[in-house]
Amino acid sequence: MKIVAAESFRLAIPFSDGGRGEGMTPSVWNRLDMVLVRLETDSGLVGWGEAFAYFCAGAVKAMLDETVLPLVIGCELSDPVVISDQLQRRLNLFGRYGITIFALSGVDIALWDLLGKSEGVPVSALLGQRCRDSLPAYASLVRYGHAETAARFTRQAVAEGYRYVKLHEVTRPEIAACHAVLDGAALMVDVNCSWSADEARSMANWLGEIGTLWLEEPTFPPEDFEQLRELSGRVALSCGENLCTAWQFRSLIEVGGVRYLQPSVTKVGGFSETARVIAMVAGREDITIMPHSPYFGPGYLATLQICAVLPQEHLFEFLYVWPEAQLYRSLPQPEKGVIRVPDGPGLGLDPDPEIIQRYQVR
Ligand SMILES: [Mg+2]
Repeated sequence: MKIVAAESFRLAIPFSDGGRGEGMTPSVWNRLDMVLVRLETDSGLVGWGEAFAYFCAGAVKAMLDETVLPLVIGCELSDPVVISDQLQRRLNLFGRYGITIFALSGVDIALWDLLGKSEGVPVSALLGQRCRDSLPAYASLVRYGHAETAARFTRQAVAEGYRYVKLHEVTRPEIAACHAVLDGAALMVDVNCSWSADEARSMANWLGEIGTLWLEEPTFPPEDFEQLRELSGRVALSCGENLCTAWQFRSLIEVGGVRYLQPSVTKVGGFSETARVIAMVAGREDITIMPHSPYFGPGYLATLQICAVLPQEHLFEFLYVWPEAQLYRSLPQPEKGVIRVPDGPGLGLDPDPEIIQRYQVR
């Protein structure tokens, strides 16, 4: 079976989050940027992938259209890992991390979707032993920068049944206000690399004292693993959404000190690189994979397929916002804090063509 067509689609779906739309992003964040990859085989099968695109959709689409997708046409659909490795080798001059690997991630996800569909099984069945059909989701709140608003949405998420809430707040008053309304739910805090080493030490001590499940990316740069290791012991640390390929995870694991590894399927290199990260920590009880997934497209479904085969109990990251439309007609949503993994072939669902047409950015 050969790939005979490859194209990308850029979408922007507006969302609301109940706040001011200002947080950790370069400018106001009020739309979900998506770059979808569509691969078609000579037998008529169609596979879908998603490349990371928040605030960089134009660059990612250009990398796909001009450089990556022409290399995919004509490939024999065999093992996606082999194809992805070949693409990485052919593209290594253009940066191993960042836009190139985001684009490759989209292709890799589409290749696995195709393989699952050609064999009539979900991708999870190709990745390993499927351990679960549903799992707890956590409400991943945007940064509100306003204690009352953040606490309101924390309370709302808990009332809806979430037992885990992740904040992107960076200062103590906001975090404390949310902590006060958790009603027994677990708290995670993600500061997207915004603290100095001194600030991080003091905040990590406090977050440890109040029982925070993990502190995510406390300091800049995210690949300063030594700095992270020095912070360990105060509160469990998480990191990984900004690492690309299993090579960077290997370095992180070698330095040690991080409890939760967070590969992001649309950034790390798709399923193929995520599977390598999972294999690296197989049998280790001191490290847990906790995928990063603030997505609503194929990246969301791909993450669910990955979560289905992880041996320990994992959490699914659900970005707690309200998109104007969903790319899928029946995208599983968390219900009382639990989300189900689709069991159809490949990723389990195909995008709604009407939504693609309506939200496409040309
Ligand atoms: Mg994060």
